[in-house]
Amino acid sequence: MDTIHELRAAYIAGTTNPVAVVDRLLAVIAERDPELHAFLEVYAETARAEAEQAAEQLVAEGAATPILTGIPLALKNNILVKGKRATGASKILESYTATYDATIVARLKAAGAIIIGATNMDEFAMGGSTENSAFGITKNPLDVTRVPGGSSGGSAAAVAMGAVPAAIGTDTGGSIRQPASYCGLVGFKPTYGAVSRYGLMAMGSSLDQAGPLTHTVADAELLHSIMAGVDPFDGTTITDETYPPVPTKETYTFGVPRQFLADGIDPDVLAVFNDHIATLKTAGHHVVDIELPLFEQGLAAYYIVMPAEVSSNLARYDGMRYGLQVRGKDLVDTYEQTRAAGFGAEVKRRILLGTYVLSSGYYDAYYGKAELVRRKMRRELETAFQTVDIILTPTAPTPAFKIGAQEDPLAMYRQDIFTVPVNLTGVPALTFPMGQVTREAVALPVGVQYIAPHAGEARLFAIGKTVYDRAVS
Ligand code: GLN
Repeated sequence: MDTIHELRAAYIAGTTNPVAVVDRLLAVIAERDPELHAFLEVYAETARAEAEQAAEQLVAEGAATPILTGIPLALKNNILVKGKRATGASKILESYTATYDATIVARLKAAGAIIIGATNMDEFAMGGSTENSAFGITKNPLDVTRVPGGSSGGSAAAVAMGAVPAAIGTDTGGSIRQPASYCGLVGFKPTYGAVSRYGLMAMGSSLDQAGPLTHTVADAELLHSIMAGVDPFDGTTITDETYPPVPTKETYTFGVPRQFLADGIDPDVLAVFNDHIATLKTAGHHVVDIELPLFEQGLAAYYIVMPAEVSSNLARYDGMRYGLQVRGKDLVDTYEQTRAAGFGAEVKRRILLGTYVLSSGYYDAYYGKAELVRRKMRRELETAFQTVDIILTPTAPTPAFKIGAQEDPLAMYRQDIFTVPVNLTGVPALTFPMGQVTREAVALPVGVQYIAPHAGEARLFAIGKTVYDRAVS
């Protein structure tokens, strides 16, 4: 395992260089990816050329080079990179090439990063296992009979197999944190608006954020600091003044929503979670039970708000503007045939659901109610943060499940129970491995989720580095 910080130190010391690293990583991909399928595309040629440039730059300028000079990263394929295919793992965009860089891509490139490839995902980020990709499933590198999680499963698998030190994903309801948990990684979902969504394929515009999947919290912090900040192309990006400051402390009070954890959680995961709480107490932190009764409604509210936004956001894929076009006998027929052929089953399910909850007569009953629950959840959270500093839950109720095991969409949706309240309320959350559970003689990682108030990223990174990075270094 190489971290970004380790690679940077080795580049500056001259003990390795970007060409050697990129060649080694391309060899890892050539060996493991035919089985795992984390990548939809590998940019071997451009990556190698950029590595050569970076190597020269490092020789000439050393520590004066931008911090990510020669660091290879992989990007989920719903993030636009100029001149590269951006498919969203959907047939409807199979032939689409991005005409500009997403703001986060421009910032990563400006910091010197080498984009080594595009990673697989659930189609348009809808799913929790990467089984919904139109281009085939991705397998979990830690146990190839299991899913890597989703929807950023390709990004998680790419890091976990050692193909890149870090990758970027997007998180609408848990899609960075849940695959990070399944693959034994650190994952971070920023405060809504901290990171620009310009150049990301919109799923749920009031929920989506991009963030890193890494081996350490320090690496996640670094990547986040490069990607974050106001962007004139995204009016929802926030400034430092948007929210009150969230101070870091020596010891914290953690709040555990016990009632919320009572249902549907794997007993082994709960045991590991309770061990984690014991470690926190030993380290001098306070851990108290709190009540967040509305959080139990989170899943129901999310699966109304999200499809509503999906149905609106995906209206643009009509066969006229981008990608696939199936010609029908007239315009409406062309729309229908294009969308019928281009979208997979899960995407269609959500468009139908979203159109239904927004339709006249049902709008107030469903969408209006869900938005009300959402506002009340936010108030409930603000009240909780008056007495606790960080809210603690497992990241997912189970370890990685078997490929094909969750046939019922509702069972799949339940995997998001602990992650979706974070997106609905817009707060930041960090996940890192808290331990392992054994399934069929394989030790599988499980993640813990730390939730902070709006704009509390610094608090999460500080505690994460103390609790996790120190333990693994
Ligand atoms: N699993 C969730 C869903 O299917 C989350 C997806 C996401 O965060 N992109 O909606």
